[in-house]
Amino acid sequence: MSTTTALSPEVLAKYQPVIGLEVHVQLLTETKAFCGCVNRYGGEPNTHVCPTCLGLPGALPVLNRRAVELAVLAAKAIHCEIRETSIFSRKNYFYPDSPKGYQISQFDKPIAEEGWIEVPGAAGATKRIGITRLHLEEDAGKSLHDGFADSVSRTYIDLNRCGTPLAEIVSEPDLRTPDEAFEYLTRLKEILLYCGVSDCNMEEGSLRCDANVSVMLKGSKQFGTKAEVKNVNSFRYIRAALEYEIERQIEVLEGGNRVVQESRLWNNAEGRTYSMRSKEQAHDYRYFPEPDLPPLVVGEAWKREILTALPELPEARRARMIAEYEINQQDAMTLTATRAFADSFEAAAKAAKSPRRVVSLITSELTGRLKAANLELEQSPVTLAGIVQAADLAESGELSSKMLKQLLDSCFAEGKDFAEIYEREKPQQISDAGAIEAMIDEVIAANPKQVAQYVGGKKTVAAFFVGNVMRLSKGQANPALLNELVTRKLDSLGGSH
Ligand code: ADP
Ligand code: ZN
Ligand code: MG
Repeated sequence: MSTTTALSPEVLAKYQPVIGLEVHVQLLTETKAFCGCVNRYGGEPNTHVCPTCLGLPGALPVLNRRAVELAVLAAKAIHCEIRETSIFSRKNYFYPDSPKGYQISQFDKPIAEEGWIEVPGAAGATKRIGITRLHLEEDAGKSLHDGFADSVSRTYIDLNRCGTPLAEIVSEPDLRTPDEAFEYLTRLKEILLYCGVSDCNMEEGSLRCDANVSVMLKGSKQFGTKAEVKNVNSFRYIRAALEYEIERQIEVLEGGNRVVQESRLWNNAEGRTYSMRSKEQAHDYRYFPEPDLPPLVVGEAWKREILTALPELPEARRARMIAEYEINQQDAMTLTATRAFADSFEAAAKAAKSPRRVVSLITSELTGRLKAANLELEQSPVTLAGIVQAADLAESGELSSKMLKQLLDSCFAEGKDFAEIYEREKPQQISDAGAIEAMIDEVIAANPKQVAQYVGGKKTVAAFFVGNVMRLSKGQANPALLNELVTRKLDSLGGSH
């Protein structure tokens, strides 16, 4: 049994963890990497298969063009160099869920190399984490160890996933803390989602991560021996597994022993890792070039064409939005949480009278209520259209901020959009010209300076009177009538002077 509580902070502080991550993402293609089978999660076991992905003798692979395009997009988004000619290789190993006895992968000439991702560093700075490579490969099938009546004695195989296109993204050992690893994964996933290259659904296994970690004495130039933690299905657990593993390794070293290079499994229920298999001997995958596939050539013209689909990436988008809408980093994070939301937000903001007011409604009124109701942005009862309507009403002075808050409360209490609640609850409109005129007179009497400005030719001052009368009427004055009466009244003043 390991005990990870015995270490004092002083002992922990002697060591420097080093982390490198290997991330596999399934690419969002219609069909598999090397055959025409549908690339879709689930389905009756062994129905999305054909001679090629079953590895039957004589069946030949044909590379899926779309998989290449998605890999190129992803590679560019993480600042990698795209290699013009890359080579597919066979990675030979025996495993029941890999019927060919090898995996088609890329070895010494991957499609992309030498990129980076930025993560938040100390004191508001950012830190660049190097990406060693991004390469294309195919997924294996799945071994089903439980769920069947005879699962005690048998393992079942589902080959639907066999041949699903994957991009493997390998980081440099540049990460230094479990938190940094968490940030790296969060950023990477966000970028991949923005590019539309993968759905990154960890529960369904479309994003999987192996975490490599070692420790060394602080100040040392020589990395320690690493262990690789597998089978972790959320970023939070990866962070927890790394925290555990760092302490375990320090304990091993403090005990005068050495860390063994091995793969370890994270057990979530117990919150610890277990040794899976020793990696002491270098693996012998006997890589060799795949004889059934020609070199993959991504020429300048094709590359350029692919990259026209590269969207504005999250980090750049946040920087632009911070400037454009005068918001802070935190608000920008909220608004860019998904590309779809950011897109509809920006469309809505452009359609609204005041984009700034739409932002503040979302960040100050909507997100708080969502949090209280434990809802995600996409589950909000109030749609963006509803927010724009509310913002416009507030902007024109037809809704006081107090009234607005009450209406939003009702929306959340009843699970209804703003339009519906507003229609029902909206303040009764005053359409009586006499009543409105009385209020206009009152505002005019109280603001002789503005009257003088108007009479002097500054016609835009009319908006000042409209706004003040609207407020005086508690938002109830009929806006069209109010506009008309204000102008008429002010013009008549001009005439009499
Ligand atoms: P392997 O040959 O075992 O696959 P690689 O050198 O290919 O090892 O690296 C695999 C991953 O492990 C990379 O993400 C890399 O950054 C990381 N890594 C390599 N050496 C170390 C180390 N000493 N400590 C932590 N991570 C490491
Ligand atoms: Zn197939
Ligand atoms: Mg390796």
